[in-house]
Amino acid sequence: MEHLLHGSCHCGAVQLRLPHLPSRATECNCSICRRLGALWGVFDWTTVGLSAEPRALEEYIWGEKTLRTMRCRVCGCATHWEPLRPQPDAWHGVNLRMFPPELLQHVQIRRFDGADSWTFIDD
Ligand SMILES: [Zn+2]
Repeated sequence: MEHLLHGSCHCGAVQLRLPHLPSRATECNCSICRRLGALWGVFDWTTVGLSAEPRALEEYIWGEKTLRTMRCRVCGCATHWEPLRPQPDAWHGVNLRMFPPELLQHVQIRRFDGADSWTFIDD
């Protein structure tokens, strides 16, 4: 399954490598996630491999300014989010849409109500 754990943005300027399959993925309906259409897997960032061509990444910061969503400047794909002020064991979100679709066959997808109740809504 190793090949499933390597992903990239559409043009390939941003490369991502996961340490393992996430136990689940989150589909969030908040104002930014629903527009991005992202499917987030959450990881300890020290375990995720990220390589990007110089200046390929640009950030988007909004709202309470606790995190920034990162996208490829070339092709526009949202690749991950990260805390603005990382703590030692901070979590980061990786957009699993950047990975082979077969990856998602092995991952439970959960719907998260980030727009309102801040809870999962698929129970
Ligand atoms: Zn790209």
